[in-house]
Amino acid sequence: MGKIKLFLLLLFCGAMLAQAQTDNGLLRMDEFRNAKKRQFIQIPDVGGFQTLKGDFHVHTVFSDGHVWPTVRLQEAWQEGLDVIAISDHIEYTPHSRDLPVNHNRAYELVKDLAAENNIIFIKGSEITRQTPPGHFNAIFIGDASGYIEDRETNEKDKMAITKAAEQSAFIFWNHPGWKASQIEGSYDWIDFVNELHQDNMLHGIEVFNGFSFHKKALDWCIDHDLTVMGSSDIHNLIKHDYNLGDYVHRSMTLVFAKERTAESVREALEAGRTVAWSSKYIAGKEEHVRDLFNACVETGSRFHSKPVNNSDTSTNYFEIKNNSDLYFELKLKSGKGTEKITLFPRTSQIITASSGQKALEYEVVTAFVRSDKHLIVEIPLK
Ligand code: ZN
Repeated sequence: MGKIKLFLLLLFCGAMLAQAQTDNGLLRMDEFRNAKKRQFIQIPDVGGFQTLKGDFHVHTVFSDGHVWPTVRLQEAWQEGLDVIAISDHIEYTPHSRDLPVNHNRAYELVKDLAAENNIIFIKGSEITRQTPPGHFNAIFIGDASGYIEDRETNEKDKMAITKAAEQSAFIFWNHPGWKASQIEGSYDWIDFVNELHQDNMLHGIEVFNGFSFHKKALDWCIDHDLTVMGSSDIHNLIKHDYNLGDYVHRSMTLVFAKERTAESVREALEAGRTVAWSSKYIAGKEEHVRDLFNACVETGSRFHSKPVNNSDTSTNYFEIKNNSDLYFELKLKSGKGTEKITLFPRTSQIITASSGQKALEYEVVTAFVRSDKHLIVEIPLK
């Protein structure tokens, strides 16, 4: 190596050394660190109400979950949820040898962090009885200690839920079809639940729980005027169970609230203004599903027209647009036009329709208004 080359090499090494040492020998390497950013779940406001994204059934290590409570808040913040409730099992605490049983602790650990991160955080518990009657989530509860922890008799089942009702909780029946194949008669509108309903101690039912759609539950919600709920019932890390990103989200409840406050969430849940969302499906009472669809999907004016051979008719072209993170699949029900439309989140599609029609009627096969009925919509043609 020539002297000049050696000199240049030494100069280069010296410069590198000087640069690395400018911060006392500590080199920051943030290139691959997750940016501090919150995702945005885009669902338009519906009928003058704010659409809040909520998960009211979440577990931590304080029952049989695998994560510390504050992680639940961080996950909700990253994913773009507005409201969560941690609802650990009252009667099932498998980590009790490692962690003292304290049904209030998860809430205490999270509430300040939730306030600092602008997430509405609601105190909850899962009353975990044998199936049937099964599990019930109580949210907006007071002191979570002192719930009945003996699971022996039907009377005790009722007492646990009475305790929640005395605290003016909002109570919903969880995953009613769970174990349906193992326990005969468990997936039914049982007397116990009917009694709760009559005593005003049941306010909603989980129609979507994690990756399951409890179809009968949707009919019960409609027939008994109960609130349609969707929840993750997550025990693991959200990112462990869900392939989040590109509009993939956990199962959740869309709440149509007057304001973005806990009080408004409660008012909306009590009024039944919700739609459950899981995977590419939504489910709820018809008026809410319809209002949600109309808020998300719009059709533009005709932008092109092409005569059909020698006839009087022509084919008209329209753009249909999905302004939301929801997913809609439509099947033509009546009229002459595009047979099938797949509206991916935040995208538009071109549809065609024969001239002389004011609207096309479609069945939205990803939107359930009963267990066996999809939403029917008219797509106006202007
Ligand atoms: Zn659960």
